[in-house]
Amino acid sequence: MDLIFKKALPVLETLEQAGYEAYFVGGAVRDYLLKRDVNDVDIATSAFPEEVKQLFRKTYDTGIEHGTVTVRLGDELYEVTTFRTEGKYVDFRRPSEVKFVRSLEEDLLRRDFTMNAIAMDKSGKLHDPFSGELAILRREIKAVGEPEHRFREDALRIMRAVRFLSQLEFTLEEKTRQALKKEVSLLAHTAVERIRVEWVKLVQGKGRVCAFKLIIETCMERYLPGLLDKKEALAKLASFKFPEKPSEDLVWLSLVLAVHPDSVRAFLRAWKLSNQQTKRTEQAYALIQEEKPWTNYKLYQAQIEGIRLVESGKALIGQENDLQVALANYEALPIHARSEMAIDGRFLMAFYEKTGGPWLSELLIEIEQKIVSGELQNQEEAIRRWLLDGKSES
Ligand code: ATP
Ligand code: MG
Repeated sequence: MDLIFKKALPVLETLEQAGYEAYFVGGAVRDYLLKRDVNDVDIATSAFPEEVKQLFRKTYDTGIEHGTVTVRLGDELYEVTTFRTEGKYVDFRRPSEVKFVRSLEEDLLRRDFTMNAIAMDKSGKLHDPFSGELAILRREIKAVGEPEHRFREDALRIMRAVRFLSQLEFTLEEKTRQALKKEVSLLAHTAVERIRVEWVKLVQGKGRVCAFKLIIETCMERYLPGLLDKKEALAKLASFKFPEKPSEDLVWLSLVLAVHPDSVRAFLRAWKLSNQQTKRTEQAYALIQEEKPWTNYKLYQAQIEGIRLVESGKALIGQENDLQVALANYEALPIHARSEMAIDGRFLMAFYEKTGGPWLSELLIEIEQKIVSGELQNQEEAIRRWLLDGKSES
């Protein structure tokens, strides 16, 4: 058993000693069997949330209405979820209610794919009622139970199937594939926030080309934000040269570089991206589109993260790029932040004996630009002299 599971063993043991059942479940067990890196270990238990909370010193009510309590052990956090079934599904979305149950089998039955419905006990023994291990061996994504029914219960599973296809480089089991094709339009009912999470993992996955192909083949793009009629853009996306591990920023940049939306902002708003993420994407996209070399001031504005994003965006589409040179030029800038300027707003207000206002921020930007571009030395005396003579001349 991996160290990461061993570290979590006391959680299982504590629950068992109190008379409950407890198992490792979900993605952690799947990834362990696949010999992939396991990031977070999820635990399923017969104990109800209140019972879990009584057994551990430090817990957080992360999703208590769905039965999830986060347990802290040392500096590790574990999501401990009560065995549950899912109640009625309304409008092909997440269930409106969950019902806690005391049996592991019932809990595994509500899970999406057989590879995700395997439980592992404290001794490493698997409880695998749907032959998930065999599916992993065959590298197959297979719905638990009747695939059509499962996609109709929660259409996000359609998106998750494609995400796993990319992430794990698996194929879809035939009946699951047929059902996916048939029910793809149900995705229209799924919350964008949930689709977005899967989209990022899909684009980051090594098997993205197969995933994009499947999306195009099933017309799934019609139900993705802003991608109606964008088959060609997706084909273009599939041709991009992605790095080993694309960042989330690059995922969004790749999408706008493929789609070229009239308004990047409106497009990303449809994906419900945060304002910050939208801004970073918009700025990088604009710099790539203008196809001009970096200026000092643009390097200064972009900062290291922005420079990395722009250069990797250029690499995606085969545009000339050189991260090392851009970073070296950035390092050589006279200043890297406004706080490094030799003067500040207070200095300018005292110099002109004026109170603040729009003039002040405009002047600060002008001085900042001159310093960054090397036209003005970053020294109080030089700036004072420029304010006295140079400025009046220009
Ligand atoms: P990852 O490694 O990306 O976290 P994961 O399989 O662990 O993948 P999670 O979203 O963390 O995905 O979900 C944990 C487990 O919960 C899944 O393995 C699966 O058993 C179950 N699950 C998650 N989402 C659904 C869903 N929409 N329908 C049914 N079961 C689900
Ligand atoms: Mg997980």
